[in-house]
Amino acid sequence: MKPAQHLLREVFGFDAFRPGQQEIVDAVTDGANVLAIMPTGGGKSLCYQLPALVRDGVTVVISPLIALMRDQVRALTEAGVAAGALTSGNSQEENDAVLRSLHDGALKLLYMAPERLASMGTERLLRNTGVRLIAVDEAHCVSQWGHDFRPDYLRIGALRRALNVPLAAFTATADAETRAEIVEKLFDGEAPTSFLRGFDRPNIHLAFAAKDGPRRQILSYAAARRGRSGIVYCGTRAKTEDIAKALRDDGHIACHYHGGMEADDRRDVERRFQQEDGLIVVATVAFGMGIDKPDIRWVAHADLPKSIEAYYQEIGRAGRDGAPAETLTLFGADDIRLRRNQIDEGLAPPERRFADHARLNALLGLAEAVQCRRRTLLTYFGEEAAPCGNCDLCDQPPETFDGTEAVRKALSAILRTGEYFGSGHLIDILTGNLTDKVRERGHDGLPTFGVGREFDRRGWQAVFRQMMGHDLVRPDPERHGALRMTDPAIPILKGEQSITLRKDTISVSSRRPAIKM
Ligand code: ADP
Ligand code: ZN
Repeated sequence: MKPAQHLLREVFGFDAFRPGQQEIVDAVTDGANVLAIMPTGGGKSLCYQLPALVRDGVTVVISPLIALMRDQVRALTEAGVAAGALTSGNSQEENDAVLRSLHDGALKLLYMAPERLASMGTERLLRNTGVRLIAVDEAHCVSQWGHDFRPDYLRIGALRRALNVPLAAFTATADAETRAEIVEKLFDGEAPTSFLRGFDRPNIHLAFAAKDGPRRQILSYAAARRGRSGIVYCGTRAKTEDIAKALRDDGHIACHYHGGMEADDRRDVERRFQQEDGLIVVATVAFGMGIDKPDIRWVAHADLPKSIEAYYQEIGRAGRDGAPAETLTLFGADDIRLRRNQIDEGLAPPERRFADHARLNALLGLAEAVQCRRRTLLTYFGEEAAPCGNCDLCDQPPETFDGTEAVRKALSAILRTGEYFGSGHLIDILTGNLTDKVRERGHDGLPTFGVGREFDRRGWQAVFRQMMGHDLVRPDPERHGALRMTDPAIPILKGEQSITLRKDTISVSSRRPAIKM
């Protein structure tokens, strides 16, 4: 038996590697620089712990989470592995004991919070005690534009150069921009051996629906899953309270959770959720970090998440036990507008905003997808996949139609009115609705006036939402609600490119015979 297999069984007590682990373990053991991207719960720690045992010398593990370091050190010690942590949470005696066994050459794994790197003696200490490998957990903390940025992570690159040892970086954050930043900051831009594995969570059913009375949609979704633990994510604090109450009125056990609550109340909800069966927590994204309930049976989004990564993380809290779990994400044109505005009004520099729009686009592409959602999702994460048979689009392929003509009409209405109006007024023009505003502006004289009578209002709203979803139009950050055409729309406008739209949410107007779809 190879030493890795043997250790896997004897020390860690596992019968086999999880998908992706073996390759990473081999590469790290061989001393390659490695960047491994695995989802939360995928089993990253094994990928540096096991090589640390096979390799000579000490492996230093840099991790931002003190509680997690302590857990790992305890588990390793129990398994008979010499491991210790230097953290601010330690007593002087604990630190002394760790340093002693480090100097004695007994220690195999040394955990360290990034703050330690700022102290002068650390590099010398690590150099003098035979550190042969650096493992970096939560490597995305090096990204200056991420939510978890830890300035001390920027010191890791210098440490790697100073010690001249291989570095293995681990993260669950898969987007290309963060990946590039990790390579630049930790590996000085020299591409490490990269692994991206295990993002599929096949037991989770994926579904999206256009908003159509979202409160009612959530209530009926929960009613069909009565008695099963679930999370409803909402975009605002007020909405969490509102929906939690509506669920209670409907006979569910439900509480709200958001960042504006007292810490004690929040902990209380966390504890109840962990312990009780069938509790529904209606929450903002503040609920999640540290939730480790294996049997969450469903997750619903009452509002569109912030990005495709946020979506993946939030639905990923369902079904950790591997048993079937279900998800539903609601989205509407208002969500898209809100998310775009949040990005545009944020303080991030232009290139960052550009990336954030792209991440939102990826999520919208998923929302408006016309074939297997899981495949679309995994493709974004860089994995290949066949149609999954466990998403709403595999269950029932959506009807589609050639939307080119409709999109061109809408674009023409936008351009002829100077990119100055929101979808409401544009729809009045397209459907020939003679409102005061239309009359005042003289828009009933436009050639586009009334050319879109083949759809009713709802139909056009769905067209506009899908146009936003395909990033053909964007709300103008300078003018409230106004829609502007984007560059990708130009070939469609010129007739050089066609576009397929989903028919399911588009009701055809009764005023005119339906257009051929
Ligand atoms: P991550 O850091 O990727 O979130 P962990 O390293 O904490 O994940 O691992 C998640 C869980 O999976 C842990 O409970 C761990 O013991 C378990 N695990 C890891 N590798 C294996 C394996 N090969 N077989 C069975 N369980 C495993
Ligand atoms: Zn599918």
